[in-house]
Amino acid sequence: MTNCPECDEPVAAEDRFCEGCGRNLLVRTTPVGGPDGTAAALCSCGSAEIDEDGFCEQCGRAQPVGRDRMEFVLPTVAGISDRGRRRARNEDSMAFGHVHGRGVAAIVCDGVASSERADEASQAAVDAANTVLVDALVEGTDPERATVLAVAAANRAAGALARAEAPDVAPSCTYVSAMRTDDGAVVGWVGDSRAYWLADVGNATPSRRLTKDDTWAAQLVADGVLTEAEAVNDRRSHVLSRWLGGDSGQVSPHVVTLRPEETGLVLLCSDGLWNYLPEVEDLDAARTRGTTPVELARELTEHALAAGGHDNITVVVIEVGVGRGR
Ligand SMILES: [Zn+2]
Ligand SMILES: [Zn+2]
Repeated sequence: MTNCPECDEPVAAEDRFCEGCGRNLLVRTTPVGGPDGTAAALCSCGSAEIDEDGFCEQCGRAQPVGRDRMEFVLPTVAGISDRGRRRARNEDSMAFGHVHGRGVAAIVCDGVASSERADEASQAAVDAANTVLVDALVEGTDPERATVLAVAAANRAAGALARAEAPDVAPSCTYVSAMRTDDGAVVGWVGDSRAYWLADVGNATPSRRLTKDDTWAAQLVADGVLTEAEAVNDRRSHVLSRWLGGDSGQVSPHVVTLRPEETGLVLLCSDGLWNYLPEVEDLDAARTRGTTPVELARELTEHALAAGGHDNITVVVIEVGVGRGR
């Protein structure tokens, strides 16, 4: 006997729905809206006097709030989103859900820094997409179709935040999602957040990057004007050619289906990680094998922070492959 996570009513192991509140007990998700973004009660200096803007009145330090460091763990999937060392706030968001016996849905969105309320845009987008993808897992909808519908929902959610009088700064974000089912994973994206397949040792399906950036620099690489190495250092490397939000219009995602022959991980991340570890070989070299998803997410986030943490860092890790997916 356990208890319903929603209403605390006792539920039996074989129950699919809570008799108290009707909650589907097979579904677990990250909190809609992100963490409760309240400041810590005490500053690290010991003072309890925090002003309205979140600064300690004794020592002047900015106080952490919920979005500065988010960490969520569900069965077979975990993620971390960190403000980094240089940005004033975390404009990345992540959401994911686990449906027992069916699979996992996960989304990372990175708010576009030149747009207003980019943190709200990315949070609204991940929440809208997660709802669509988790419902699709419950209902058994085709994952590629669900991925397209999730991007449309995310685009509407971010777009709804736009102010008519300020179209040039309409809240905007990138998008990458993964939907893991029994036999593999479907990845969709718009913008420059990335997905990688990280094979377990000896895997017959080698590690590789699954996404191609929607950036002007990536286009120049594809056209042979820049090399990958030049593109990373080019000021155009982060200028997006596609995004979600107010002025993006109708957006359909790129979709890739992965059917690995053995087990491994799908990593979703924002550019705050891949700026420091761009190639899949870099990621494979930086990671410890055999860790849990949350341990790997912590390890890679620490790598980006140690390397400078110039941007918000978000890392979501999903177990994928034959024998996983429960
Ligand atoms: Zn309940
Ligand atoms: Zn203080």
